[in-house]
Amino acid sequence: MAQRSRNSTLSMPVISGDAMQNIHANRTDIRTVMITQPLPTHFFRGTFTTVLAFMDIINTKRLIKDVRDSRDFRTGDRDKMETVLKFLKKNYGDRTGAVHRRRDSPYQVLVSCVLSQRTKDENTEKTSAMLFKLATTPEQMVGLPVAKLEKAIHSSGFYRQKAKNIKALSKILIDEYDGKVPSNREQLMELPGVGWKTSAVVLSYSFNSDIIPVDTHVNRVSKRLGFAAEKDDVEAVREKLERLVSEKLRYHTHLEMIHFGKEICRPINPLCTQCELLKICPFGQDRVNRKRCSGI
Ligand code: SF4
Repeated sequence: MAQRSRNSTLSMPVISGDAMQNIHANRTDIRTVMITQPLPTHFFRGTFTTVLAFMDIINTKRLIKDVRDSRDFRTGDRDKMETVLKFLKKNYGDRTGAVHRRRDSPYQVLVSCVLSQRTKDENTEKTSAMLFKLATTPEQMVGLPVAKLEKAIHSSGFYRQKAKNIKALSKILIDEYDGKVPSNREQLMELPGVGWKTSAVVLSYSFNSDIIPVDTHVNRVSKRLGFAAEKDDVEAVREKLERLVSEKLRYHTHLEMIHFGKEICRPINPLCTQCELLKICPFGQDRVNRKRCSGI
């Protein structure tokens, strides 16, 4: 119950223990208490109404934040991505010029991607160069003896399977697409040896698609920085990145991430203590703290 203080006609109302309990239990009750009790003036009533209104705003904001935080995608990720994009552009932007795109024909990009599966980038570059000395079109590839093809791509690993896929996809391109690489993702993925990653690379490099190809470097860097969960497959990582990176920046961002992943955020022994992104990287901070604790 609210009572008027004895010493002053305009002093604060005293709220009884019962009423306080009600206030904590249910905010609706505080309105009831304040409205139905003989408050000293309209001034106090107005003040408490304002306080309650603020409480409502604060609680609503908290609720919205809780809902956002409970999702995979958090608003904080946007700020973090802004920092990452600025860092990547500053350090690697000059290495990802337009010349990189369309350097090879769509067919060469496609074949290089098949060769890149489960091998290092150096092997892909070496075997692609050797193979493209022998054949650069589906017609030439189909006419190339299998033994020669296998020898050219031997150091890319799994060379027998890769040779088989390259031969088979070349034949399909001739038979069904007039010797051209389709720019449709579903059609690309029907080709032998072509999955999510390969199709994304072909679309991005050869057809100006705003897709972000998620290779091993982009995948690792994204997860370490906390933009994707460890359990996410490459498609999930791609979707999460594309929510945060505008269309016009996607191509360059993915190339910059690859450079960063090769040089700093390496698969083994990433250079976290030298990394400018350490302060926003959960993986890096955890790693550095563990090393400090173990005295390494
Ligand atoms: S702090 Fe380490 S793990 Fe994080 S982005 Fe940098 S190098 Fe990679």
